[in-house]
Amino acid sequence: MNRRDFFLSTAAAGVGAAVLGNALPATAESLDKTPEAKLRLACYWGGLFPAENDQDRIQKMLDMGFEGIELSGDGGGVKDKKQLFEDAGLEVCSLCFGSCGGAIVSEDPSKRQGGIDALKRALENAHYFGAKCVVYVPAFNGQTKLEHLEIRKILLDTLPALGEFAVQCNTHITLEPLNRGEAWFLRQVADGAQIARECNSEGIGVLGDFYHMTTEEPSDMGAFLSGGKYLKHVHLGNGPQPPRRTLPGQDDRPFVDGFRGLKYIGYNRFCSFECGVAGDDKLAEVKKSIAFLRREWDKAEV
Ligand code: MG
Repeated sequence: MNRRDFFLSTAAAGVGAAVLGNALPATAESLDKTPEAKLRLACYWGGLFPAENDQDRIQKMLDMGFEGIELSGDGGGVKDKKQLFEDAGLEVCSLCFGSCGGAIVSEDPSKRQGGIDALKRALENAHYFGAKCVVYVPAFNGQTKLEHLEIRKILLDTLPALGEFAVQCNTHITLEPLNRGEAWFLRQVADGAQIARECNSEGIGVLGDFYHMTTEEPSDMGAFLSGGKYLKHVHLGNGPQPPRRTLPGQDDRPFVDGFRGLKYIGYNRFCSFECGVAGDDKLAEVKKSIAFLRREWDKAEV
């Protein structure tokens, strides 16, 4: 009997809820409604491996089994490629908006509206591409002089309305926790999920990035269980030790524990490579990494 069968057989007596608290649905009926988890791979457009032109890049992506594309910035620079992506059957899954210089949580109130407007433009571009998430970092280190509690209050005052705007655009503002070397504010998936929960908007979610999680999370599985329904996107990369932030499988960082967490929550959104590539033959290395990830996924029993 696997873990899922165990919970199905014991849920009626409430045993499942007793074992894992709120991490899993408590009834057999709700377990049946948990979507089937899938490993759906994406990578950012224009990088990761060399290509002769757009068509060559797309063909290589399709040959390797990629289903999605992540765009950098607000996506405005590649609007002309929408049809190209659609014709290939590749889904634009995400826009990496970033922090806009930390404007929304700046200590200077006169800068905040500019950040809000820029994020709205990114959400509108996400709607244009059909992308389900806009990745948002409140502030990298040094981008605001405000303290954590002040930043958090501004987010809770600002994000609910932006979240409703995101809903209108059929997308999500996806908060990205980073490692402490890049951002002391917002370092763990659970913290981002709690901000999303307090915003009480369907348009606010959180992201888990394996690279940052290596430094900040004591358990990959625990992080994703905490993210739960708020987890809208995942970034792939290995750890901070050399070769730093390269392809999964290019160091000894395991992915099984995290993938087990994704399976528990029925995650079927995208996992997008956000990393460099060690080695001269980058295409061959990406293929090896994908094979590694699929083995890790298969090993992640639930
Ligand atoms: Mg990331």
